[in-house]
Amino acid sequence: MKKYTSISSIQEFLVKEKRRGKTVGFVPTMGFLHEGHLTLAQQARRENDIVVMSIFVNPLQFGPNEDFESYPRNPERDAELARSAGVDVLFLPEADEMYSGSSIKMHVTERTQVLCGSKREGHFDGVVTVVSKLFNIVGPDNAYFGLKDAQQVAVIEGLVNDLNFPVNIVRVPTVREDDGLAKSSRNVYLSDSERIEAPVLNKSLKDAERLIREGEADPGRIISYIQNRISAETSGIIDYIEIYSYPELTPIDQLQGEFIIALAVKFNKARLIDNIIIKAAQEEIHHV
Ligand code: AMP
Repeated sequence: MKKYTSISSIQEFLVKEKRRGKTVGFVPTMGFLHEGHLTLAQQARRENDIVVMSIFVNPLQFGPNEDFESYPRNPERDAELARSAGVDVLFLPEADEMYSGSSIKMHVTERTQVLCGSKREGHFDGVVTVVSKLFNIVGPDNAYFGLKDAQQVAVIEGLVNDLNFPVNIVRVPTVREDDGLAKSSRNVYLSDSERIEAPVLNKSLKDAERLIREGEADPGRIISYIQNRISAETSGIIDYIEIYSYPELTPIDQLQGEFIIALAVKFNKARLIDNIIIKAAQEEIHHV
């Protein structure tokens, strides 16, 4: 596995490989790798000649009171895991080089007024800035993103459409622990008792899906159901529980078509997110 930190050196390598007709799959991450990231890399491995993974804790996507400084990091372990997942090229850019210029600011105007976008001001502006730069540096054919961050997928699909990036965005389903908790680099910050409670987030989403399949079509009642479960069964503080069409992220008043139920819950040292995307076939919904 090759490792690059400088932009010009990775570009030089990848331009040569692409001239030889090699396809490139790209997995952007912030590191502290777990099975979620590795699943993205393994899928990229199966679908491309060359797999590039970036590890960059992007300062632009953290707010002033967020966990940029304390975000977990372990570059040696990450390199070992990336290699074992079949990554060919690890890109570890430096913030100073990534953000040496300041003549352009990107601002996302759709799909960000809700969910994490409304809670984390500037977060998705930082995400599209770094992703645009990484796409220009790597020039991937396919880029892999996890549906654990479903709003991020929706925003990046908007970015690629609007700015005509010649890259195919691949949505990868959320990878979970055996008890249903979505894998996340931030799970290490859960206390033992919070770790026991945390699977309730996924359980309540799955039970909500069951209620919908059984005929519940009212978003408000589904939200209340999840709210009650999480308040009763965890010590977390609910940041949001919301339902929108997916990927447009516009409000819906009936649970029809393709929609997302997404939530964020704050525990003592970790804010966890999870979601479920439901595609309701017309005949499956029995109106109450
Ligand atoms: P991050 O390092 O948190 O920025 O994540 C890098 C990529 O891995 C993003 O596309 C995430 O959506 C994806 N990812 C993180 N956790 C998971 C998971 N549990 N399942 C699937 N993808 C994930």
